[in-house]
Amino acid sequence: MSTYLVTGNRYAEILYMLGQRGVSISCKQCGRSNFLIYEGNSPTFLLDDDDDLHSQSFPVVILLCQNCGFFAEHSSVVLDLVDMPIQE
Ligand SMILES: [Zn+2]
Repeated sequence: MSTYLVTGNRYAEILYMLGQRGVSISCKQCGRSNFLIYEGNSPTFLLDDDDDLHSQSFPVVILLCQNCGFFAEHSSVVLDLVDMPIQE
C-alpha cells in the first residue's frame, strides 16, 4: 500500500475509530484540530538473534497537524481499519 491522503468518508471513519478509543482529536503540541490524515505503511527495523537487521512494515494512519507539523502514527490493524493479523 502506498501512502495516500485520506478524504471524505474514510477520513470520518478514521476519526470515529480514534474517538471510540478515547483519542483526543486535537494536536498534542499546539492544541488545534486541523489534521491531514494519510494511510500507508511505516517501516520498522528489527534485529534477529544473530544481530542481522531486518525491515518490516506496518499499516498505519498518520495524523499531521496543519498548524505546527506535529504528526502521530496509529496502527491501522489495531483500529480495525485493515484486515491483517498482527504477527508475533
Ligand atoms: Zn499542532
